[in-house]
Amino acid sequence: MTGYKRVLLKLSGEVFGGGKVGVDPDVVQGIAREIAAVQRAGIQIAVVTGGGNFFRGAELQQRGMDRVRADYMGMLGIVMNCLALQDFLEKMGIDTRVQTAITMGQVAEPYIPRRAIRHMEKGRVVIFGAGMGMPFFSTDTVAVQRALESRCEVVLYDKSGVDGMYTADPKLDPTATKIDEITYDEAILQGLQIMDQTAFTLASENKLPMIVFGMAEEGSILRAVQGEKIGTLVHP
Ligand code: UDP
Repeated sequence: MTGYKRVLLKLSGEVFGGGKVGVDPDVVQGIAREIAAVQRAGIQIAVVTGGGNFFRGAELQQRGMDRVRADYMGMLGIVMNCLALQDFLEKMGIDTRVQTAITMGQVAEPYIPRRAIRHMEKGRVVIFGAGMGMPFFSTDTVAVQRALESRCEVVLYDKSGVDGMYTADPKLDPTATKIDEITYDEAILQGLQIMDQTAFTLASENKLPMIVFGMAEEGSILRAVQGEKIGTLVHP
């Protein structure tokens, strides 16, 4: 069982809201506890949060809003999740830094990749917010980009509701079976889709492994980063 030294965790916005709009402090506290355990185990960790519990640009567009403006609203929503997570981590005695792709000096540092690496080396949890700072992207893609730029060995995707990748959508197809391990080429060949294609392609092209899992079980993040087989490992 080989563990990782530096990892990036992508949390969907949905998980912050506990299925509702806004932030559920009890849920965020639980997530913070899991991240704190990783940091205390001496593993460097950065987090990218989603924002679907507030706004998704594409959804607002369908309801008549301009896509670009709606996407910026989405990115601002993400920052609220970052601050909630930061709050609970700091209460647990974990040093954190939020770095946002849209500058907002009063609440966060700007995104400075080399500084983010330095923070992690010092044992701080870095939370990347406001997505890429650009409309038309998803935070799944941001997670791969930030993981690559900050030299993380693996990107972990929490996909609430499922515990990994399946041969088909388990909610629709009762014969679907869970995949423990797969290569990018096989996944693409089989047309398996669990996240946006840009993210998948970027990770594949740059040979960044990913673990797709669900956080339903307590301690699953720590176990995954320590090398236990949890969820689905997608590798080059
Ligand atoms: N977003 C964006 N650019 C980015 C990242 C996010 O425009 O680089 C916007 C987009 O509108 C998206 C929203 O922020 O719908 C929330 O992010 P996402 O949908 O990825 O969150 P999740 O589904 O992970 O909760």
